[in-house]
Amino acid sequence: MDSLSHGRLQSLFGMMLRDSEGDKGRNLRMILGTPETRRIIKKWKYRTKNCERATSRNAFLPEKLQKLQPLYYNVSEIVGKEYKGLQLYSLEQALERLNSIVVGTNCVLLSWDDKWINELSLASKGWKFHSLAGETPNTLVLLCSCGRCDTKIYLDLHSTENHNNDNVQNLINERYWEDIVTKSRPSQCPWVSNQFDLSDYHLKEANLIHDITRMQGHETVHFGTSGEITHNSTPLFSQEQLFSLSEFFKCADKRKLELMLRGFIPVEGCNDAVICVRCFRKAFIGSITGSDYLNPHAPWCRYHDETKLPTMITSQLLSAKKTDDIKKRLSDLENYFESV
Ligand SMILES: [Zn+2]
Ligand SMILES: [Zn+2]
Repeated sequence: MDSLSHGRLQSLFGMMLRDSEGDKGRNLRMILGTPETRRIIKKWKYRTKNCERATSRNAFLPEKLQKLQPLYYNVSEIVGKEYKGLQLYSLEQALERLNSIVVGTNCVLLSWDDKWINELSLASKGWKFHSLAGETPNTLVLLCSCGRCDTKIYLDLHSTENHNNDNVQNLINERYWEDIVTKSRPSQCPWVSNQFDLSDYHLKEANLIHDITRMQGHETVHFGTSGEITHNSTPLFSQEQLFSLSEFFKCADKRKLELMLRGFIPVEGCNDAVICVRCFRKAFIGSITGSDYLNPHAPWCRYHDETKLPTMITSQLLSAKKTDDIKKRLSDLENYFESV
């Protein structure tokens, strides 16, 4: 970078800091990680210990050193231990609950709907699979339990007469959502008034990095059967798209690349099967790549629109190329600050 560009960058940095004093710069200040930000995080992360009450003996210390204990609690660790089942923002835990419901119910046909009651909506509200109850298929009900307070709910999603009428089922499921899913817990359970933010689950630019990271680990992924993917109708991805993505991910195996772009990883111990990493639906490679192509994803899955992920990555690559010139980027940034 030449000295002129460096000077312009410094002056922009100064503008960013000045701007961070106002309301508009609140997020910016957080990103910059100023001492003030670190002070605030520290203030809320640690709590002074009440030494009188913290009397648990340390068997490895002599009597005169028993008082030597940390003076602060790490609140983050306490929340992790004491509020098990309530990591509200944890995508990993939401996916664990989702997986438990999908695996627990995949052998029965239930009346899910896209809007109110489905595996994802239940998992987002803190429910996990408990069991299926009932003597016969017609009396089968789904039991879910709360990950936090262990409350259980019964959902009758197996009423055969309702399978024929989506509107009726939607109305029933809406009632289930309002009366059972959100209100069954005791009022002190934090899931009553909270829900995992599903925008973190669905595909958007801000969380595209999850997929890029996943796909960068493609060397360790091996799909069993070999051969070209053929589609009877129009291919899902264009050759140019596959070419630029195979360059980007350094993955010469186009077949593997295509399967991963559609959200699949191999099923352990089964050469011909794949599983989606976000809706946990399984499929044989032949059924999703051959002439009888079908979309195996759940309607609410992050990859249900199978062309969306490669399109988003490709457009990001194109826009990164366009703004590669440092002078152009500086000038865009200057224009931005002038406009605010
Ligand atoms: Zn609860
Ligand atoms: Zn899926």
